[in-house]
Amino acid sequence: MHPDLRGHLPRLRTAAQAEPLGLYLHVPFCVDRCTYCSFTTTRDRSLQAATVQRLLADIATWGEDLGHPAVDTLYLGGGTPSLLSQEELTALTSALGAAFDLSPLVEATLEANPGTVDLGWLQAARSLGWDRISLGVQALDDDLLARLGRIHGAAEALAALELARQAGFQRRSADLMVGIPGQSLAKVLEDARTLVATGLDHLSVYLLDLDKACPLRAEIAAGRLTLPSEDAIADAFEALQRELPALGLAPYEISNYARPGGLAIHNTRYWERRPYLGLGPAAASHLGELRWTESSVIPAWVEGRGTLDLQDLDPAEALAEIPLLGLRMHRGLAWGELRALAVSRKLSPLVDAWEARLRALAREGLVAWDDDKVRLTARGMLMSNGILELFV
Ligand code: SF4
Repeated sequence: MHPDLRGHLPRLRTAAQAEPLGLYLHVPFCVDRCTYCSFTTTRDRSLQAATVQRLLADIATWGEDLGHPAVDTLYLGGGTPSLLSQEELTALTSALGAAFDLSPLVEATLEANPGTVDLGWLQAARSLGWDRISLGVQALDDDLLARLGRIHGAAEALAALELARQAGFQRRSADLMVGIPGQSLAKVLEDARTLVATGLDHLSVYLLDLDKACPLRAEIAAGRLTLPSEDAIADAFEALQRELPALGLAPYEISNYARPGGLAIHNTRYWERRPYLGLGPAAASHLGELRWTESSVIPAWVEGRGTLDLQDLDPAEALAEIPLLGLRMHRGLAWGELRALAVSRKLSPLVDAWEARLRALAREGLVAWDDDKVRLTARGMLMSNGILELFV
């Protein structure tokens, strides 16, 4: 545990014992760096063994410090967790079982890059209890994938989904990206249909994010590549909003679609503000109104000398997070419950101001009120960034 958190241990322990946690592990290694990537990851795998050792130590210490709390969702993300050896994956999984009470576990997801999986590794992961896999497909077009710097082609991505099925992963998700230079609306839809036809139960649809410096952004700035227009991107998202439900995958969050029962339980806890502990470089945690992010400098994190980005939310900040995150969900938010909470915290004026703004957005067709429930409409989902700023 980072020294900055030591003084908060009683609070953290109380929060961890109040309800089951989600546990995220970050594996910060990739075969190559994608041209759009701004995640904490590196191609230099010389620190992989030390990183796994540090994760093992952190799992044990956190389990002990928090009193071996219950955990109901696990998520192994990255980076590329499928670069872990079977031995490393086994050691991490065993350590989790020894340090935490996994009896209420309902979901254990691992991310994988289609260019790094084989049947043996997937079967080993499945037999260790990992029961859901999320594959970073992004597109099913070799030219677009090369532009993104992905290490796999379209055929390999589809083969990885099939291997995951053969290995026994009944719960399979894929990421699909929108807004890639050169990507047409027809291609987005064709890729979505092809992915759904593989039988996966979950699809995440993301806009290419070039907010941070990366090679692809430099190519675009230099005029060598052109992003699709905003209208074309909006058309693609709207078409997916229409098409995917017809194919059996209903939207349940701004970026996520699932078959009945296929909702990502771990990810949903982020939007419901349920507690989670993240271990690994750049991993984020939320426990007892404390939010923190581990150092993203991998060597510093491994050596335990990285700085922690720690935030202790005040009551107004904590309240604002409820609509900020909750309105991402299609089912919307129980406004009366939010109001009651605001009253108990003497923050009613804040909710009054939000409600006035949301009522105005409802007149523009971006927000809908169903009795006490408020939610973003399909058009509101497309403009969610601007709307949710209201709560920042
Ligand atoms: S596979 Fe994912 S984490 Fe790794 S470089 Fe590509 S986008 Fe980044």
